[in-house]
Amino acid sequence: MAYPGRPTLRPSLARLKRWSAAGLDLLYPRICQACECAISFEAPREGLSAWFCEECNSTLPRIEAPYCEVCAEAYDGAVSTTFRCENCAGRKLGFEFAFAGFKAQGPIRTLIHRFKYERRYELRGVLSELLLEALKEPRLAMESLADWVLVPVPLHPSRQGEREFNQSWELCCELHQATGIPANQALIRVRDTEHQARMNRRERLANLRKAFAPRPDRWGSPAPDLRQRKVLLVDDVVTTGTTTDECARVLTEAMGVQKVVVIAVARG
Ligand SMILES: [Zn+2]
Ligand SMILES: [Zn+2]
Repeated sequence: MAYPGRPTLRPSLARLKRWSAAGLDLLYPRICQACECAISFEAPREGLSAWFCEECNSTLPRIEAPYCEVCAEAYDGAVSTTFRCENCAGRKLGFEFAFAGFKAQGPIRTLIHRFKYERRYELRGVLSELLLEALKEPRLAMESLADWVLVPVPLHPSRQGEREFNQSWELCCELHQATGIPANQALIRVRDTEHQARMNRRERLANLRKAFAPRPDRWGSPAPDLRQRKVLLVDDVVTTGTTTDECARVLTEAMGVQKVVVIAVARG
């Protein structure tokens, strides 16, 4: 996906930034987000090498082909063509496809868990760097930025009160900073549907129905107009896609969005 990226600094400012970063490295070595060892002084300051030591970076649980073209479920066998997993075969969804650069395993799972449940807000930087990897999916890499908007999967207000922030919105804001793609809290959650771990699939689907709605015009903030836009629906973890499917349906059916692609840090 072509995007403007971070604004470029004047050469003199860029040099100053490099020197001060090098100085800071001496005082406070950068720490690998997976194994907590000190990151090599020469390691790049951009991309995943800025956040993980060489060894951890090379062993992150990346999702590589072959994977389901709809839900990104990785497949261990040898498949050379695109395919749909059993769960997605014949399934009609509100979004085109979902993708994450990583499996929700090992250090990725730990980072997401700390961010979400231990309120480790400072982890949003490394998580958005991991989320950026999803934009390298070949179908997204071909797209140009022009009509896309980042929209987070909303939390129910009661849940957001507990957690103090919506992890998906925080990721959208970070991604916006890094790419320039606009972000919009276009949806609200009108029913608390997160306590559904013990329900079966049918009960979960019924419970999810009408759980989301377009954000209305209120508190001086106009209702979002996303007609004919393309949406990157952002979540921290994507699994079978039932929640994101419901969100995507509201976006396309009630708000006139042209198409929705789901991106997440990890595939659960
Ligand atoms: Zn490491
Ligand atoms: Zn699938």
